[in-house]
Amino acid sequence: MRKIKQSYFSNFRNMTSKLSKSSEAKKRKVTEENRTFIASWELDYVFTLSNDKPVCLICQHPISVLKKVNLQRHHTSMHDDFDKHYPIGTKVREDKVASLRQSLNGQQSLFR
Ligand SMILES: [Zn+2]
Repeated sequence: MRKIKQSYFSNFRNMTSKLSKSSEAKKRKVTEENRTFIASWELDYVFTLSNDKPVCLICQHPISVLKKVNLQRHHTSMHDDFDKHYPIGTKVREDKVASLRQSLNGQQSLFR
């Protein structure tokens, strides 16, 4: 009787030691890449991240889904003139976007 019990426990121990090897957490690389704010979007579409949401720097309209096409669509349909006054790739655009971002950050700190 004793022998049987001991062998049972040693078998059980072997099983649990095998099971205890933790499996790696699943990686969600694809979805994370699609939902990441790309730094160049700030200059391309005049958006910035505010509380993990993309916010238009010109009209401060938040976009619920972080996707490039959504930012692009908003910018081209709502702020077509912006690209004419501040063409992409110019210093004036960089300065304008930087000042818009600063004013947005200033507003947010006032409300806190
Ligand atoms: Zn806007």
